[in-house]
Order: sequence, then structure tokens, then C-alpha cells
Amino acid sequence: VGSTQRFGVPLGYGGPHAAYFATREAHKRLLPGRLVGISQDAQGRPALRLALQTREQHIRRDKATSNICTAQVLLAVVASMYAVYHGPRGLRQIAERIHRQAHHLAAGIRDLGYRVGPEYFFDTFWVKAESPEQVGQIQERAAQRRINLRRIDETTLGISVDEATTSQDLRDLWEIFAGSKEPAWDPEGLSSDPHQSLPPQLLRTTPYLTHPVFNRYHSETELLRYIHRLQSRDLSLVHSMIPLGSCTMKLNATAEMLPITWPEFAQLHPFAPLEQARGYQTLFAQLERMLAEITGFAGVSLQPNAGSQGEYAGLLAIRRYHQARGESQRQVCLIPTSAHGTNPASAVMAGMQVVSVACDRAGNIDLEDLRAKVEQHRERLAALMITYPSTHGVFEEGIREICQIIHEAGGQVYMDGANLNAQVGLCRPAELGADVCHLNLHKTFCIPHGGGGPGVGPIAVARHLLPHLPGHPFLPGCNGPVSAAPWGSASILPIAWAYIRLMGSAGLTLATQVALLNANYIAKRLDPYYPVLYKGPGGWVAHECILDLRPLKKSAGIEVEDVAKRLMDYGFHAPTISWPVPGTMMVEPTESESLEELDRFCEAMIAIRQEIAAIERGEMDPVRNPLKLAPHTAEVVAADHWDRPYPRSLAAYPLPWVKERKFWPSVSRIDNAYGDRHLVCSCQPWLEG
Ligand SMILES: *Cc1c(COP(=O)(O)O)cnc(C)c1O
Repeated sequence: VGSTQRFGVPLGYGGPHAAYFATREAHKRLLPGRLVGISQDAQGRPALRLALQTREQHIRRDKATSNICTAQVLLAVVASMYAVYHGPRGLRQIAERIHRQAHHLAAGIRDLGYRVGPEYFFDTFWVKAESPEQVGQIQERAAQRRINLRRIDETTLGISVDEATTSQDLRDLWEIFAGSKEPAWDPEGLSSDPHQSLPPQLLRTTPYLTHPVFNRYHSETELLRYIHRLQSRDLSLVHSMIPLGSCTMKLNATAEMLPITWPEFAQLHPFAPLEQARGYQTLFAQLERMLAEITGFAGVSLQPNAGSQGEYAGLLAIRRYHQARGESQRQVCLIPTSAHGTNPASAVMAGMQVVSVACDRAGNIDLEDLRAKVEQHRERLAALMITYPSTHGVFEEGIREICQIIHEAGGQVYMDGANLNAQVGLCRPAELGADVCHLNLHKTFCIPHGGGGPGVGPIAVARHLLPHLPGHPFLPGCNGPVSAAPWGSASILPIAWAYIRLMGSAGLTLATQVALLNANYIAKRLDPYYPVLYKGPGGWVAHECILDLRPLKKSAGIEVEDVAKRLMDYGFHAPTISWPVPGTMMVEPTESESLEELDRFCEAMIAIRQEIAAIERGEMDPVRNPLKLAPHTAEVVAADHWDRPYPRSLAAYPLPWVKERKFWPSVSRIDNAYGDRHLVCSCQPWLEG
């Protein structure tokens, strides 16, 4: 296991940053998370794809290997680019310089009469003073030079050196420890042996980072072009709407994003003394207050790093609450079958036993089944996890009654707040009857998804759960933390703070109204072509809608995946497919999309429905048609040989406006089964980007 903070990711007052773990061949299929594997496309060309686990939680639920959904992808990418730019030689040079500096500094401090250890170290060592008073004097001298030293115990200090450490820093530190003693030490005189405090038998002798990608882009120009080449293969919000139901892909405004680049936010150590972080502390307090007001709850913890971690933290708070009341037998967690896969996976992590609750034909929680399950587990009932509006995209009418049933049986209500974009300013989880709720700041509050993270999943809780929020060894209180940093992914919180402050309360409410309006516009426009599966009373949906594509399998042999791939030819990222109902699409437009963009999406979906109709009528081949053979790459369309029974123009430019804004997919249909059977975790030299 390790952290990428030694790999070019800023400290950011604690996060976000990526950690990793690696394993032997034998265990690779048990790895949690998003494993990139290699498969091939319809032309037999290599194609990278997420292997095995992409839907693991949704399929295995309480038996999943991990509850993590949103991870730290962007930080992993940052770290990988650090390795791409520096390459194996550059990384070794950086490491050797750091080690020489650390060794030299330690030796200089030892010469002053201090005990220094351990025997072997890389960049971090400790210094033992004679008395707490001496430590106090050292820290005072350090403070005068604006240097923070870590106090490990009464008489011990810790020092770390990194690639930003200068010889002036070394001189300052030496003088701090020397006090009134005359400096007789030369920070320029670094020894030439780069490995003095490393155990010789552990030094690596084999080559590493031999892949061409780590040996090619060592100038800024080359690196820039490489990154841009990769970026241009990615369809993102800069091209078109990404209507991923439940994921709430909305505008990430530039003004909201700018502060993450400011050193005042990016360069702060997570354990810097509180009085040096007053700006951050003010921002946390204000953000907590605003989120408490939006949810109607008494308090907020910003510590969880994603929704899944919020679920874990919230369920732990519920467990601690029951335990504090002498009811530690309450361990059963009721979860509707429509719930996101993280819900059961988190419940198991929090030490609970998952019991499923059925949904009725309208997509709501089956109240009869709920009552029966509550009765059956009354004495052991800990909590119900419920998503509102439901993952079926409707405002569940029975929400208050459901909360009441749980409370009467002594249980707590955990609200999965991933759909808060349908609530902000209109209703509040606390008033609906929930006791705790997580918020996905990377959904509702504009932090970009980063291709799979970073996220922030704060939890808001009612008053009686306040004492059970996660704590931190560095803060007063005794609850354990859920994250290594007291405020989790602190450096991206300014994004959510800025969003709320820019919008104001009227703006936030209007955004929710427009999000609901946009979803209903799409539902009404597409319903004649793809029936909307679940509607609330009055025929309305919430902020997203589920389109039922299952009948097309019978009428035309078309599956939801075929439509998803064909959408790429029209320049759209597919909506969420086959979740929470297999064979359907869940569309969430958000308030960020204009009427023009909604219409473009609807026109694409309608045009695809007309292609399917041609298959139904027998006018198009049931196998060799533009849906089954989608997406169409430039290579395929421009090839000298074309033997498909439909024209090239239909493949590439199916509607007039597609020409204007064509986005070329870089691979054809990917062979999913092949990729799972041939799980390759390391990059092959022929995939050199
Ligand atoms: C996104 C989502 C989650 C998980 O949140 P992460 O931040 O990805 O961990 C849980 N429930 C629902 C309904 C979601 O949409």
C-alpha cells in the first residue's frame, strides 16, 4: 500500500490524494476498485476498458469487495503524469537528492549532540532532545523562521525532507537545532553517496518504468501534447451534455474551480497548527452551516471522501448511537432493492446485517414488505437506508410514513442524498424524517467528477447523532476518523463553497426547479418513443427519468448497449444504462443544460428510434445495422473498403448538425467478455498512446 503524495500531488490541507495497493498475480481478481484492463475492439485493435469490477457493487451488493464507488482517479492521473514527465531516471535523481539532503541534515544535527534515528530512513527521521524545555526552545526558534516541526512526544521531534527542500531550508534547520552554537556545518557539502541511510540489501537493482510512455515525454512541450492527445479522445462536458442518471453531471464553473490552484489552499499541511489555517477553518464553518441549512440538520462532518464513505460514516454514527443507549444488538439494516450498490456494501463495512426490502410495480418501496421486515427484525432493527427522490426517479409519496414506521420500531433513517439536486431549496431531508444524510458535493455541489473522483461526501445529522460524528486523533473528542485527514479532501471544498455563495438561496432553488423541469421535458418528449418506466402521481418524474428499452429486444433484437454505443456516433455520452433496472436508460439532464441541448439529445434519441423502426419493418438488416455495428471510428468510415448495407454518411453523420460538431470515437465496439477473460493489469508496449 502507498500514497501518491510523494508523486506530485499537492498536500491540499489533507486531500484529495490517491492511495494505492498492489498485489501478486494470484489475488488480482479480488482487487476492489476500478481496474483498467486491455481488451480488443470489433476491428481487433487494442482497447483499454475497466475490467470486472465496474458494476461489482451493483451485482454483488452486500458481498462486494469494497464499498468505494467514486475513488481518486484524477489524482492517480496526476501521479501517473509525474512519472511520465520525470521517467525512471528523473524519479531516481529526485529520490537520491531527497535522501542525500535528509541524511546530511540528520548527520549535522547528530553532530550537535542530539540522538537521531532510526538507523535507516529515506526522507523522514526523528531527533531526540534532552528535555521538554529544550524541545520548546527548538520549536520557538523554528516558529521564528516560520518552520513547523512535528512533535512526536515530549522530547522527540520529526523532520521530513522533500524535493522542494532547499539548502537554505537545511541551513535554517541546522541553526534552529544549534541554538547559540557556532555553525560548523556546510549544507552545500552533500556527500556523493546517495544511499547512506538506506539498507543496502533492499536497494533495487532491476529496471523499472521501462514502458515507452515513461521514456518519451520529458520536455514540457512533449508532455503538453501527450496530455492533450489523451484528453481529445475523451468526450466530456465541453462537447455535450452527459445525462448520467444519479451521477448529476452539471456545470463546473471556472470561477468555482480557480481557488484549487492557489498555494494558500494547495500547499497547506493537514496537521499545520490550527491558527495557521484560519482561512480554511472559516470556510469549513461556513460550508457546514450552509449544508446544515440546506438539509435541515443540526451538524455536518466534512470528513468523508465520497458518498460511499459518507454512508459508512453515517451508519457508524447510527451504530454508536444505539450502542450508547445500550442497544448494541441493533445491527439490521433494511435496504430497498432499488438502492445503489454502495448502500449494502457500506452497511456490511459498518458491521451491519443487510435485509432487502422489495419495491412495488410503481417503483416505490413496498410498504407491506417494509412492515413485515420491520416486524420480523423489530428488536434488532438499526436503520433503513433510503434514497429520495428514489433511484427510480420519482418523489416517493410514502416517505414520511416510511420514516415513521422505522422510528416507531426504534430504528434510524439514513437518507442517501445523491439525489439532493431534486431537493435543494424545495424540501429538506430532516423535515422528511431522516436522521442522517450524505451529500455528494461532486454531484449536487459542482465539484467535477474527475473521471471517477475525487469526491466529497459530507454527512449531515440530527442533534441526537452529533456526538457520534467521526472525529480525529488530532482533534478533541474520541470517535475514530473515517479518513486520514481531519477535514477529508479539504482543498476541493472551495468549489462547493463558491457554488453556494454564487447562487444564493434564490439561485439554488431556481436551479432545482429547472433541473426538475428539464427532466420532465425530456420525459414528455421521449415517452412516445421510449416509454418512461416510473412516474409519480400526475405523471411527473423527479430530476431524472428511466426510459424503458426492454421491448426493443423483442421487436428488433436491439439492446440498451446498442443504443448507448450508437449515441456516440451522434456525439453524446450515453445516460446511465441498466441501473437500477436492467435494459433501461436513466437520463438526468440537470439544470445546466439549455433547451437547445435538451432538444439535440432528444432528436438523437428519436432518430435512433427511427433506425430501430427500420429494423422492425425489415428495411434494415437485423445484425449488420448502424446500431449493432456502432460506434463508427474515423478509421472504419474512411477505410478504402466498405461493405456494410447502409451508407457511410449514415454511420458518421446521422443528423445534419452532427457534421458541425462531430466527435470521433477512438475505438469500435469493445469485446467485454474478452477483456474479462484476459485480465491484463500492466500496460503493453504496443499501447503507447
Ligand atoms: C453516486 C451515488 C452513490 C455513491 O456515491 P459516491 O460518491 O460515488 O461514493 C450512492 N448512492 C447513489 C444513489 C448515487 O447516485
